[in-house]
Amino acid sequence: MADQIPTAEPNSPEARDVRYHLHGYTNARLNEQIGPMIIDRGEGVYVYDNEGRPYIEAMAGLWSVALGFSEERLVEAAATQMRRLPFYHSFTHKSHGPMIDLAEKLVTMCPGNMSKAFFTNSGSEANDTAMKMVWYRSNALGKPEKKKLIARQRAYHGVTIAAASLTGLPANHLSFDLPLSGILRTGSPHYWRDMLPGETEEQFASRRAAELEELILAEGPDTIAAFWGEPVLGAGGVVVPPATYWEKIQAVLAKYDILLVADEVICGFGRTGKMFGCETYGIKPDIMLLSKQISSSYLPISAVVANERVVGPIMDESARIGTFGHGFTAGGHPVAAAVALETIRIIEERDLVANAAEQGERLRNGLAAMADHPLVGEVRGVGLVAAVELVIDKQAKTALEKPGLLGAAVNKALQDQGVIGRAMLDAVAFCPPLIITAAEVDAILTKFRAALDTVASELGLAVPA
Ligand code: PMP
Repeated sequence: MADQIPTAEPNSPEARDVRYHLHGYTNARLNEQIGPMIIDRGEGVYVYDNEGRPYIEAMAGLWSVALGFSEERLVEAAATQMRRLPFYHSFTHKSHGPMIDLAEKLVTMCPGNMSKAFFTNSGSEANDTAMKMVWYRSNALGKPEKKKLIARQRAYHGVTIAAASLTGLPANHLSFDLPLSGILRTGSPHYWRDMLPGETEEQFASRRAAELEELILAEGPDTIAAFWGEPVLGAGGVVVPPATYWEKIQAVLAKYDILLVADEVICGFGRTGKMFGCETYGIKPDIMLLSKQISSSYLPISAVVANERVVGPIMDESARIGTFGHGFTAGGHPVAAAVALETIRIIEERDLVANAAEQGERLRNGLAAMADHPLVGEVRGVGLVAAVELVIDKQAKTALEKPGLLGAAVNKALQDQGVIGRAMLDAVAFCPPLIITAAEVDAILTKFRAALDTVASELGLAVPA
């Protein structure tokens, strides 16, 4: 793609993209120079660019296309619903079949004792909604001071004003005048990066729990409403919690009557090798946030699923005020809800959670076998999500002089090999569709190994045979 733009035809898609389109998560000036990569079509785990080149989508788009890029049953589900009822909403006592069916399905399939589902359109909206529900509940309980929220470093909860404030990554705050006040920050569960010399996983988890408790006591337990966490941190670098982490964090939250919000936007629907990340890690949340794989991302839809501890007071407060003054025009959109129901049906029918566990193990074992490569610092993951942390100095755990350069170089070499991964600073992530086969996993591994070797030889490092 490089240097294509200066010579691009003025009416080419590349030139028009540069002229008219401001991208999300993109260096906009760099896009003027190098232009976009235009994806034209998809089939199975592959996408094809506008010159017909195939790529294995090893990130399932944005951790999201569970069923791959050509599931006809989702197309049919959408078309059928589009013909029957293309739009309806949930305000002022209205409802419709797909919304009711999906609410029932989510409440009954989520772990714990969930009570009701509320529908939103994106992960960010689900996070904002949960925040408002938590505040509304505190007011309903006559505890107006119980409003602060605790989120973690490296967390990703989205980009709307409140969700970006929960997010613990600098790019989401810098120049946006964020975060909002009232969001407290605690350490991430990144054992490999943040461990003290000689510290075991259990000791590290105890330290994180003790820090959390100190923060709660310093702020005043009665001022804190909820703790926010992804079972596995996704965009922060696929950070898998160390042994005993969630158990110890939950014990602290229970002690001080603090709600637990599990952001399952990436983990939900099979990604961690069980249906939900909460099941993989024994998390008992009060609220679960679902999106992405819920509809295989064929249409936007997300949900906030909450237990009676949360929903009961909210219902009472809505009666006192006269309404729960929150809701989105397209929340629970019938076509998106129909596609979500069909997605979940397919995941269950084909036992894609088991496939994620099996192919994920193959992927993680294959990556772990590259641990002796000079550029590999750590391989981590669970189920069908993994990351390789790249380093130049294994002892010091450092990469190139500028953070992110090495990750970008390896990810670019990987893309040149025909695999789309994702660099998060110097970690390259893998999160392929749940339908992936063993042969496709092997192709990712071979091409990743080749990408590592390419970059290592560019850097003048010896490559093991
Ligand atoms: N939460 C998590 C855990 C996510 O990974 C994401 C998106 N990557 C979001 C929330 C935000 O979702 P959206 O981009 O749909 O707003």
